[in-house]
Amino acid sequence: IRGFVPPIRSNSGNNGNVTSRAAKGEDALDDSTKRCMDMLCGPDGELPEKLRNLEPRLIEHISNEIMDRDPNVRWDDIAGLHHAKKCVTEMVIWPLLRPDIFKGCRSPGRGLLLFGPPGTGKTMIGKAIAGEAKATFFYISASSLTSKWIGEGEKLVRALFGVASCRQPAVIFVDEIDSLLSQRKSDGEHESSRRLKTQFLIEMEGFDSGSEQILLIEARAWIVRNLLEKDGLFKLSTEDIDSICKLTEGYSGSDMKNLVKDASMGPLREALRQGTEITKLKKEDMRPVTLQDFENALQEVRPSVSVNELGTYEDWNNQFGSLS
Ligand code: ADP
Repeated sequence: IRGFVPPIRSNSGNNGNVTSRAAKGEDALDDSTKRCMDMLCGPDGELPEKLRNLEPRLIEHISNEIMDRDPNVRWDDIAGLHHAKKCVTEMVIWPLLRPDIFKGCRSPGRGLLLFGPPGTGKTMIGKAIAGEAKATFFYISASSLTSKWIGEGEKLVRALFGVASCRQPAVIFVDEIDSLLSQRKSDGEHESSRRLKTQFLIEMEGFDSGSEQILLIEARAWIVRNLLEKDGLFKLSTEDIDSICKLTEGYSGSDMKNLVKDASMGPLREALRQGTEITKLKKEDMRPVTLQDFENALQEVRPSVSVNELGTYEDWNNQFGSLS
């Protein structure tokens, strides 16, 4: 299960008790930290209030590692997922573009949960939203908060939402959120992980009422054609593409990408096998990618999600999802 929180409004609830050390004086900061802080300053040259009590090194980490200024994924790059795209357009993109219309009954949900097997386009959707709505994209892996930021996750979450609220509109993509929120409170649970969870829920206010959307995708032909056409390597008939689709039942989007990648090596491998040296190989002499290349690649690239796992997602969808 992965999710992302769409637009953050200025009242996004980042006003909890700030316990982190106060920002150090400017003099104590090195150049790169200073640059990050400068970028976040308002037109008056002052750091926004929300950021003043946060540790500069955390703000710097968010700016450098978590914030992606140019996600570079377009809506049209995403194959299939028509239902998800339609929901996301109505729930997230339109409200961002026309906040005046999306008020009252039409107020958008704050959170949106995308779930499905790995490699099926959830991250792409998050990035594409940011692109379409001209928003800043933030990506954070929930599991890194407990593994890498032991004891500091809570502070990092606060910094993340703080920086995002200064870079509105913003899309925060929380990967593997289940690893964080699904842990039941138990005696063994560390105080810090309980606080982290609470902090997340505070920041993501509206998570409970957030709509849940499904992404289960298989638009395999489109991926094959799109990837090969981009490179001009494409020489497959409609029947060839049909055969590839039949042979790749259960392959995810990223499995398909790997398959196309391997198949596209076919002509190159063949030329080298026949004795041409890689440095002397002329691009124009390479033959196009054929069905046989795909058949060979299928031996190497296996589907990453098992039928069993797919069943689990389907069960979850039947119980909680939006697509029946
Ligand atoms: P997820 O977040 O669901 O694990 P990603 O969005 O990160 O998966 O997908 C990984 C890669 O697989 C993408 O960068 C893309 O190349 C390919 N891919 C996955 N799903 C699709 C799709 N629906 N359309 C086009 N490419 C896809």
